Amino acid sequence: MAAGRLGDTYGGYRARLLERLRAQGIQDLAVLRAFGETPRHLFVPEALRHRAYEDGALPIGHGQTISQPTTQARYLEALGLSGTERVLEIGTGSGYQAALLSHLARVVVSVERVPPLAQAALAALDEAAITGVVVVVGDGSLGWPAEAPYDAILVAAASPVVPKPLLRQLAEGGRLVLPLDVGQVPAEALRALPEPPGGGQVLVRITRQGGQYYAEPLGAALFVPLIGRHGFDQET
Ligand code: SAH
Repeated sequence: MAAGRLGDTYGGYRARLLERLRAQGIQDLAVLRAFGETPRHLFVPEALRHRAYEDGALPIGHGQTISQPTTQARYLEALGLSGTERVLEIGTGSGYQAALLSHLARVVVSVERVPPLAQAALAALDEAAITGVVVVVGDGSLGWPAEAPYDAILVAAASPVVPKPLLRQLAEGGRLVLPLDVGQVPAEALRALPEPPGGGQVLVRITRQGGQYYAEPLGAALFVPLIGRHGFDQET
């Protein structure tokens, strides 16, 4: 694992984060390696760098957060990437998850609706010497048709419904992982979860197979709202 190889003073903290992820049940070695190779401290505000390797969400400005590492790791495991995929991320935020994805896929397109966040993410990706990530500004509930189809799509903001454009832009065999309003998921599917979601959101994986879409709930989720044409109207 590359936890000490980045030439910064955070290697020990990164190694501890990897231990924490393993203790939380993350087993995919490629995912763990991506965490070991990505300097999370470059993606959080400078004043919070000392907390960058804690397993928690942190504020990144504009009312948004960088998600909790365990959550992001579960997401990445659920996508089952092998390194060759074209991936679309909705909600660049800090750029950290896009950086993780760059280690796990061939092409990463990441859409952010708040321009200053997209700019800060680009600067952080640049500082971290991450290549292979394209950050664009727009309403990600419409997907990003110019680069479609995608083998994997992940949405880092919670949606009231599955945005139809994302289904259309999913390649055959592709996976879409997104947090959905709990009301959208059949009660019977929720009962199959190890722990019933207490809050209002469920992480769902949708697979496109033979022109059909199969949905599977993965667990409880807590994300900021997806704001856009196929999301929520405005910040609440
Ligand atoms: N993946 C991020 C965390 C994202 S937080 C990280 O690693 O830091 C969710 C992000 O989704 C926020 O930055 C928010 O501005 C963005 N967002 C919300 N609605 C969106 C939309 N319709 N299109 C694109 N981005 C959106």
